[in-house]
Amino acid sequence: MSDTKILLDESEIPTHWYNVVADMPIRPAPPLGPDGRPLGPEALAAIFPMALIEQEMSTERWISIPEPVREIYRLWRPSPLCRARRLEQTLGTPARIYYKYEGISPAGSHKPNTAVAQAYYNKQAGITRLATETGAGQWGSALALAGQMFGIEVRVYMVKVSFHQKPYRRSMMQTWGAEVLASPTDITESGRKALAQDPESPGSLGLAISEAVEEAASREDTNYSLGSVLNHVLLHQTVIGLEAKKQFEKVGDYPDIIYAPCGGGSNFGGAAFPFFADKAAGKEVRLVAVEPASCPTLTRGHFAYDYGDTAGLTPLMHMYTLGHDFMPPSIHAGGLRYHGDSVLVSQLYHDGLVDAVAVPQIATFEAGVTFSRCEGIIPAPESNHAIRACIDDALKCKETGEPKTLFFNLSGHGHFDMAAYDKYFSGELEDYDYPEQAIKAALHNLPKLASAG
Ligand SMILES: *Cc1c(COP(=O)(O)O)cnc(C)c1O
Repeated sequence: MSDTKILLDESEIPTHWYNVVADMPIRPAPPLGPDGRPLGPEALAAIFPMALIEQEMSTERWISIPEPVREIYRLWRPSPLCRARRLEQTLGTPARIYYKYEGISPAGSHKPNTAVAQAYYNKQAGITRLATETGAGQWGSALALAGQMFGIEVRVYMVKVSFHQKPYRRSMMQTWGAEVLASPTDITESGRKALAQDPESPGSLGLAISEAVEEAASREDTNYSLGSVLNHVLLHQTVIGLEAKKQFEKVGDYPDIIYAPCGGGSNFGGAAFPFFADKAAGKEVRLVAVEPASCPTLTRGHFAYDYGDTAGLTPLMHMYTLGHDFMPPSIHAGGLRYHGDSVLVSQLYHDGLVDAVAVPQIATFEAGVTFSRCEGIIPAPESNHAIRACIDDALKCKETGEPKTLFFNLSGHGHFDMAAYDKYFSGELEDYDYPEQAIKAALHNLPKLASAG
């Protein structure tokens, strides 16, 4: 029997990130400023270091990974590719199921892959502080870790509901030396405005982004750092798919379908894009972004220019969106509750080159529990989305008898999400379809472009 864990040596950690833009038939639309004109690099320089801005706009296929970043990656990478044999047996499917386990990072998810790179480039640029937002706490922990590794102070605006629901994520960030504030705060204009409207505001990711961007824009020593959505973030995450390709080579297999949970699109892009390179060259492989039915950005949103945050401080991005004023229903996959999506993923989805499915919450927990009872690992609620979609196809293979190769990205573990599992076990979780009315309403609130077309 072949190995269960397919492992690589540290020397096989990729030396370059893969930039999907080089292989896109239709290039992503540029970000626009408030005047409706494409933004130049200088417009982003107030909050990002130039090296990251260059990556954001790059069309080069390969971008080299700095040695100090690879050195930190070595603390947990390469991550294993695992064959989920016990899950296959339980499902009785002829499909071969593989997963890449990103939960082995110190912060417990894929997010440190970009946090480390972002902290490094900011340090190189002489920045001493980073401001960021976090929803479920995974990104905040990743950046706290990375800031600590490179001697950069980190301030995290944590969405208020999560701040109270997930005290141990907060402790984790503090352990790595970060300062954590419940957003909305009264120290930023965006926060004060939200509190004036609703003193009990539970906060949202879009609002926390406004606070962090505002702080970064107003301080010389401080930059902003985003955990998903942006091109350079997806670029950094391609270490996942690049490693996975080598691992599949080792066992002489290749995925027919790839699944990843999709919030802002970074672990999906990271896992899937290196395989897109083969697809662009003619190989048949399906790439499936899996999102919650309660936040169906790709499957039901509008493909339009919209802001990345609630207050409208970010550039306009051409993406699938549920509207920047989206107030998420309180589902448990906190990391998937963002109104927009990556411009790269959005363009590829629009062009029919990647697929998307939306899955209801209860079914995702059911899949996650099945997985954990076979394979041991308790997945993050976000990851359960990919597992659901993968299991659904594995069951279809059982009906048709097709021995397909299915691969999903297990983006993180769920050790800080056990309260959500408790709710699932006690029957308190609900399924929630995002209302059509809200989707229509969002269309009216999209920014009107000064120079549309
Ligand atoms: C943040 C997060 C996600 C969603 O974010 P993407 O940018 O879409 O990858 C998925 N899974 C886990 C474990 C996360 O922490």
